[in-house]
Amino acid sequence: MNHARHARAEQLIAEERVEGISQAEREWLAAHLQECAPCTDLARQTDQALRLMRAAAIPFPSGLASRTQFRVRLRAQELRERKPKRRALWLTCAVSWIFGVASAPYVWSLFEWFGQHTGAPKLVWELAFGLWWTLPALFVVAVLLMERVRQGDEPAWMRQDR
Ligand SMILES: [Zn+2]
Repeated sequence: MNHARHARAEQLIAEERVEGISQAEREWLAAHLQECAPCTDLARQTDQALRLMRAAAIPFPSGLASRTQFRVRLRAQELRERKPKRRALWLTCAVSWIFGVASAPYVWSLFEWFGQHTGAPKLVWELAFGLWWTLPALFVVAVLLMERVRQGDEPAWMRQDR
């Protein structure tokens, strides 16, 4: 018996319990389990693990369990959605700062040139140069404030135990 057959059996054992498998696949798996002790063991262990997981969920009153699950799912979804965004935000920020440092001499001479050609006071284009530098920080502050506002929109029942 080759390795691929065991691998297929292993996959079918998992799929059968999660999403279901076709009649042909079920027949193939049954035939394989009859002649393969390791895969039969795996199927039994999988069933046991699933039974334990279900048994562990029983002590909750059904309403509480589903409400808890709902909140856990919601929270997980919230974290999933927020985390990559936060990471992308810092990455964008880091890149723009690095770009800012690298381009600073050019930007400085650009502002200097602008100042000389428009006759603007030195203080004005120096200030403009400073503002150019604070743009990424202002961007971050704006995004964080937006997130704070969105958190405030949550219904009261979700905030009650925070
Ligand atoms: Zn096998």
